[in-house]
Amino acid sequence: MKNIAILGSTGSIGTQTLAVVDEFSDIKVWGLSAGSNITLLEEQIRKYRPTLAVVYDEDKGKVLSEKVKDLGVKIETGMAGLLHLATMIEVDTLVTAIVGMIGIRPTIAAIEAGKDIALANKETLVCAGHLIMPLAKEKGVKILPVDSEHSAIFQALRGNEEKAIDKIWLTASGGPFRGKKEEDLLAVTVSDALNHPNWSMGHKITIDSATMVNKGLEVIEAKWLFNVPIDQVEVIIQPQSIIHSMIEYQDGSVMAQLGMPDMKLPIQYALFYPERRRMKEERLDFRSLKSIVFDNPDMDTFYGLKLAYIAGRRGGSLPTVFNAANELAVKLFLNQEITFLEIYQIIEDCLRHHTVIENPTVEEILRVEQETYQRINSRR
Ligand code: NAD
Ligand code: MG
Repeated sequence: MKNIAILGSTGSIGTQTLAVVDEFSDIKVWGLSAGSNITLLEEQIRKYRPTLAVVYDEDKGKVLSEKVKDLGVKIETGMAGLLHLATMIEVDTLVTAIVGMIGIRPTIAAIEAGKDIALANKETLVCAGHLIMPLAKEKGVKILPVDSEHSAIFQALRGNEEKAIDKIWLTASGGPFRGKKEEDLLAVTVSDALNHPNWSMGHKITIDSATMVNKGLEVIEAKWLFNVPIDQVEVIIQPQSIIHSMIEYQDGSVMAQLGMPDMKLPIQYALFYPERRRMKEERLDFRSLKSIVFDNPDMDTFYGLKLAYIAGRRGGSLPTVFNAANELAVKLFLNQEITFLEIYQIIEDCLRHHTVIENPTVEEILRVEQETYQRINSRR
């Protein structure tokens, strides 16, 4: 029996994780959690009967407790609730499907408690990779990537020595604005940016895909997950999202992982690793596909990606600034308070004005996050 808990069960990755769970009888969900969507959380509680459900919002927690009092499930709230969920005794794998830096503390707590991590929450590794990777090694827990690109690399590494990597080719769809120039991006709207060509995802990551900041976060994440210098990670546009990433080995041989753009595949792979299970979804059809195309990323127009390389190369607390500035800027863009290109300007301004802390602790990371938000808010 596989025993899991999900941080962020009501979102895109969370609901797809539950769709994978539905296909198998040997996986049990012990903990579910959400930020505020108690309607869906209640449905999930009734279906999966976890022993613990956490809703971050305290008032919503009270409402939910009342609604499910017939079931005997424990309802908790806030960070204390998330930390409890992350360390539940019955659980062997925590799925981190929560969005944003709020995932850092529960993920660290889970590793400390010896849980394997099926990691979707990329913000955690971007800000705290220097803490998480050594801790996971020390505790002997697996960090199993859920993000499609990192799952592809993880799969392409099997049977090979990591040390022989020459380059990681991280593929990117290019998002809804691929091929556009700065002048075309001046007046794009929230709904233009939410219109991703290949993937249906949460709002934050969909905007990150449109700015290509998502790819920047993934470059930094790849550096930590696969222990390679950041300049050995190269981004290549693959607009069909069929090649999910590739490894070029030192002898020039390239291993790629291909598949339909469906997150259930990497989720299932992470949950059952190292086993492969049957998945009944649509398969790639090479006869109708005919060609797979590539393009270079335009890092001058989509310069959030360039800024990610700068932050990732410098390291310390700078990736936290990059990530926090982006989180708030995306929120402001989604609220229609700033324009699309202002997202880049805000990130760049915050990076420029930060004094880097080397090897920041969790407390320092969270303080830098708050300072970054304060800077952005004070300048508006
Ligand atoms: P989403 O917005 O659809 O879902 C986020 C989930 O987190 C929801 O369940 C929400 O309730 C929960 N949440 C938010 N704030 C919370 C809080 N304070 N306390 C508890 N729960 C909280 O996001 P998503 O698209 O599923 O993405 C989740 C993470 O996975 C992100 O880090 C994203 O970058 C990463 N990721 C997503 C995809 C994808 O296809 N969606 C692919 C790769 C990586
Ligand atoms: Mg991805």
